[in-house]
Amino acid sequence: MPMLQGQMMDAPLLISSLLRHAEQYHGDTEIVSRTVEGSIHRYGYADAARRARQLANALKRLGVQPGDRVATLAWNGYRHFELYYAVSGIGAVMHTVNPRLFAEQIAWIINDAEDTVLCFDLTFAPLVESIAAKCPSVKHWVALTDRAHMPAQPIPNLIAYEEWIAAETDRYDWPEFDERSACTLCYTSGTTGNPKGVLYSHRSMLLHTFSASLPDVFGASARDCILPVVPMFHVNAWAIPYIAPMVGAKLVFPGPSLDGASLYELFETEGVTFSAGVPTVWQGLLQYLQTHKLRLTTLRKCVIGGSACPPALMQTFERDYGVKIHHAWGMTELSPLGTFNTLKKKHLALSKEEQFAIEVKQGRPPFGVQLKIVDADGRELPRDGKAFGDLLVKGYWVIDRYYRATESPLRDGWFPTGDVGTLDPDGYLQITDRSKDVIKSGGEWISSIDLENVACAHPAVAQAAVIGVRHPKWDERPLLIIVKKPGQEVSREELLALYPGKVAKWWIPDDVVFVSELPMTATGKISKLRLREIFKDHKLPTA
Ligand code: ADP
Repeated sequence: MPMLQGQMMDAPLLISSLLRHAEQYHGDTEIVSRTVEGSIHRYGYADAARRARQLANALKRLGVQPGDRVATLAWNGYRHFELYYAVSGIGAVMHTVNPRLFAEQIAWIINDAEDTVLCFDLTFAPLVESIAAKCPSVKHWVALTDRAHMPAQPIPNLIAYEEWIAAETDRYDWPEFDERSACTLCYTSGTTGNPKGVLYSHRSMLLHTFSASLPDVFGASARDCILPVVPMFHVNAWAIPYIAPMVGAKLVFPGPSLDGASLYELFETEGVTFSAGVPTVWQGLLQYLQTHKLRLTTLRKCVIGGSACPPALMQTFERDYGVKIHHAWGMTELSPLGTFNTLKKKHLALSKEEQFAIEVKQGRPPFGVQLKIVDADGRELPRDGKAFGDLLVKGYWVIDRYYRATESPLRDGWFPTGDVGTLDPDGYLQITDRSKDVIKSGGEWISSIDLENVACAHPAVAQAAVIGVRHPKWDERPLLIIVKKPGQEVSREELLALYPGKVAKWWIPDDVVFVSELPMTATGKISKLRLREIFKDHKLPTA
């Protein structure tokens, strides 16, 4: 139909514009990094932008073309940040590889992406040595260090990052191109089958960054100091490397040290106000704070997502440390933001308990994301906070197609997330489970997350996981797996006594086992898949 065209400037939404903005208006705002060597590096957005332009020239000289994939195996740090901008800025594709995967999986991913350059932190030199011969597409390997610290491993065509970019001028005009071009590539961890590539566009990433910065989402500002604990190889560190330059926030990169002591030191010395990561990281920090009787003097809010945040963890941070925890849900296919939990005005009149009952949910979608839940036949279910079904999503930063895939993953234009949950009339999502983690007992579903949350509220419990174990009569019954806090005791009977009155009687776990630690996935979540393997022959007392 013939339309009347608007008459406003038409400029593509490009990643490079974020760093240009930060350089011009927040040039002296700091980016602080703990390096792999352990020292602290600090500079401002203007320095980062200058070095990103040198890096852009260096990439061009190496022959990197628009659309080429440049991979990283790196922690959160300033050189990784420079790569985020230089690679996408020249029109190439930034491919963040998760170094916690097995070497064979890493090589598989690099080959699938056909990366031509791979930049790595010194930590990963042995890994790079072991995979180099298996990655024929990679023509250049770049060690993210200076000449004096080059790794001893024999790695072909090895470049020293500092020397490489020092040879270039910092004059470079970021090119303008179609905003639908790819900027970044990130693989799902592929708990079943091979990992799948998700290819973000400049447009989707910029819209995601705008929305994630809104007050009811990350709500970051030029008065914030943000420390992303979530790695830059885990869905773009939840967009923090883009949000911070957009709003002019100080950035603190923790490098490889994500233990309680190292994080606490950075939080306090740098005045961190805001942080984000998966629940296991905060459980570790909490134990450190409790053991050493420490206080957090500047941190005021944290985003917890990636897996369900136990309500007890949220409560302890808020009550004992004055840190507000915001629960969020997302996934690689969503860039990752799907929902974020903040209250509405009408909720302010509610009691603390009523507010908390909302805040433990995974939150509501920001502008740009639409959610619905459907039954097994694809019929939409009511948004009453009770009916639960398969969660479908669509929006400006939701996947349309996996990298190299010929078939669309969509159902009638909606992306099936593989999660099961409820939606309430106000739009708040509550995840019941991943569909493969749901416990199917006698034809009905039991939520493993609900059962874990009850156990986590016990003061002697450090971590809890619930899985379904085969049962001759009921198909599956829940098994509660517990890691106790150091020096604390709790019995099987005490734990099982927590459940009556909190969940339906038939949901109560059939058995409890105590372990010294839980297996983790490459993104720092409890690996239910591995737990199901370990306990596949567990004999339930009820069997
Ligand atoms: P990986 O499986 O590699 O960690 P993702 O980060 O993409 O990859 O994981 C996304 C999945 O994590 C979601 O589909 C969901 O099952 C789970 N998840 C993310 N956030 C939450 C949350 N707040 N509560 C429960 N589950 C979550």
